[in-house]
Amino acid sequence: MLISLKDIRKSYLSGKISLEVLKGVNLDVGAGDFVAIMGRSGSGKSTLLNIIGCLDRQTSGTYLFEGSDIKAKSDDELAGLRNGRFGFVFQTFNLLPRYRACKNVEIPMLYANIPKDKREALAVEMLEKVGIAGRKDHTPAELSGGEQQRVAIARALVMQPKVLLADEPTGNLDSRSGMEIMDIVRKLNEEGITIILVTHETEIAGEAKRVITIHDGVVYNE
Ligand code: ADP
Ligand code: MG
Repeated sequence: MLISLKDIRKSYLSGKISLEVLKGVNLDVGAGDFVAIMGRSGSGKSTLLNIIGCLDRQTSGTYLFEGSDIKAKSDDELAGLRNGRFGFVFQTFNLLPRYRACKNVEIPMLYANIPKDKREALAVEMLEKVGIAGRKDHTPAELSGGEQQRVAIARALVMQPKVLLADEPTGNLDSRSGMEIMDIVRKLNEEGITIILVTHETEIAGEAKRVITIHDGVVYNE
């Protein structure tokens, strides 16, 4: 199993009060799967996605990625995993405003110390893949929302991740741009990338192979 979560719990402390957001999540995701995570606002979707992507650690429970226990990994090992195995796409795109599209796509390769000429070539290749190479020298402010999200997807793909994690990737887009983004996501899954996508839109979730719902801190299969 690529991803295996067993009895994952996550609590946040606010002042002296502990808020338990995830109350024993069990979830297996196989290589090549396409899972949509649904649930109302505040139900813990982003919390779960961030734990899966090693942006955050669980309070208790076991997370096995490619069979190895995340808990046993050092911060450096986790950083390597994050940059190499996962691609992240967010609702707000999270591009660096002063960088051109091409440079934004290069960022994960900067962390991985990939040489400049290779970085530039790969960035353009990825921008071509998401149909936006013609905008490579534009800054985010010069791009539409849909175009910015394509750049963000190109950035997420550039290290050839196993898993693409998308947190409400169409949440800030009109429905047509949203569907164009979903077309890209579906094609990536057809090429073999595992997709885990958070959404609260039924139509978007319908693009996935499998839909799960978080309710009261627990995951339900639909
Ligand atoms: P969703 O993505 O489903 O809207 P989140 O995972 O963002 O939900 O949040 C779940 C709950 O956890 C919310 O009540 C939120 O306020 C709380 N929460 C999320 N992140 C933190 C944090 N870093 N510190 C304290 N509380 C948090
Ligand atoms: Mg969220």
